[in-house]
Amino acid sequence: MIYRFYDFDIKMKGYITATPSCADPTDPNTISVAQALGQIQSKTVAVEQSVLLPIRECLGRICSESTRSKINVPGHANSAMDGYAIAFSDLQTDVREGHITTFKEIGCSYAGKSLNAICESGQCIRIMTGAVIPEGCDTVIMQEQTEQRDDDLVAVDSNHRLGENVRYAGEDIKQNAIILNQGDKIGPADLGVLASLGISQLKVFRKPIVAFMSTGDELTSIDKPLEKGQIYDSNRYTLFGMLAQLEVDIIDLGVIQDDFHSIRSALLDAASKADLVITTGGVSVGQADFIKSALEDIGQPDFWKIAIKPGRPLTFGEIEESLFIGLPGNPVAVMVTFNHFVIPAIRQLSGAEPAKVPTVRAVSTEKMRKRAGRMEIQRGIASLGVDGQWQVCKTGQQGSGILTSMTRGNCFILLREDNNGVEIGDLVEVQLFDWSQI
Ligand code: AMP
Ligand code: MG
Repeated sequence: MIYRFYDFDIKMKGYITATPSCADPTDPNTISVAQALGQIQSKTVAVEQSVLLPIRECLGRICSESTRSKINVPGHANSAMDGYAIAFSDLQTDVREGHITTFKEIGCSYAGKSLNAICESGQCIRIMTGAVIPEGCDTVIMQEQTEQRDDDLVAVDSNHRLGENVRYAGEDIKQNAIILNQGDKIGPADLGVLASLGISQLKVFRKPIVAFMSTGDELTSIDKPLEKGQIYDSNRYTLFGMLAQLEVDIIDLGVIQDDFHSIRSALLDAASKADLVITTGGVSVGQADFIKSALEDIGQPDFWKIAIKPGRPLTFGEIEESLFIGLPGNPVAVMVTFNHFVIPAIRQLSGAEPAKVPTVRAVSTEKMRKRAGRMEIQRGIASLGVDGQWQVCKTGQQGSGILTSMTRGNCFILLREDNNGVEIGDLVEVQLFDWSQI
């Protein structure tokens, strides 16, 4: 036994000059995830054109210029409560006098229908939430903290402070304040703020155009029967799903055969239509992998291997004015690399500020094998314990063709370059697929 093993070892060393592959934890031809992201960032330029849209259509879009408020919000000092508006200086504050001041009610002020009266000393005005504070008043006493003494007499004790229950003009937004900056993404609250300022239209960057295609002679459309050796093209569907969740215009260019000239002309066509061209498959070192050579012919390759698993063969570069990202063919690798490299590129193309994706620390409930050198991204199932501590386990088989690991899982487990294995109870970094699952 020992002899045979030794012999085998010698033969491997003596007769095979192996090249680094995805079976090795390190490969000198790869660049790190951080370097890859840095190169993508340095080559990606935001779309220039912007469009003026009604604010509802701006939801999720990126501001192409800053916006200032032309008015104060609120526009006038108004009441935060239903109660009585008074001049604070009228209140008897001397405790020896028994705390009570009586005011004569001279009218009622409603939101949107303010009373046109001046409140003199000793008088009060009944006031509803949102009504303008009447002239002569500076404080509102809550209705529940008053006592009706007579038909028009209201008693108030001394336990109040100046300006109580008054919302001041401009306390939310001051006139001329910047409320949105270029690069900000418009969320539901922004729509409300814009509406409160009477802004009905906004300038946002146009959506980036993203064209994508699958490559592979084995790929069949989902409406056709499978011949021997063929598989259905699933990547175009996951890509569609992931792109549809972003603010981009999508062009689906179908399936391209594993042929240098077909791929070359499909890439040129895509680059003439889109800001970003994405392909899947054909980026490895096989006889039918033409993406890299086609890119070298018609564009500028920047890198083609990243120290990541899954997703090592990823080609990035430019074709004419477009960015090009050649994703691997394996379905899980497509989703992992889309998440880690394509989304930041699209964000930047859209004109948005770079975002740090939030991660949580979770206790691993199982052992994970990993050798230091490259980043590994496992699919996991994370859950939040009653003690507020996240826990995570793997989805099972982690092969880059096991697409159901993405449907079963709810998170990526990010095992960074320096990690060399996880023991039960270790803390690992987890990125949830969908933050609404918390
Ligand atoms: P490739 O990088 O082209 O060698 O593809 C790697 C693996 O992913 C192969 O097993 C392919 O059959 C598979 N694959 C490539 N493209 C697709 C696709 N669009 N849908 C599903 N599987 C694919
Ligand atoms: Mg292929």
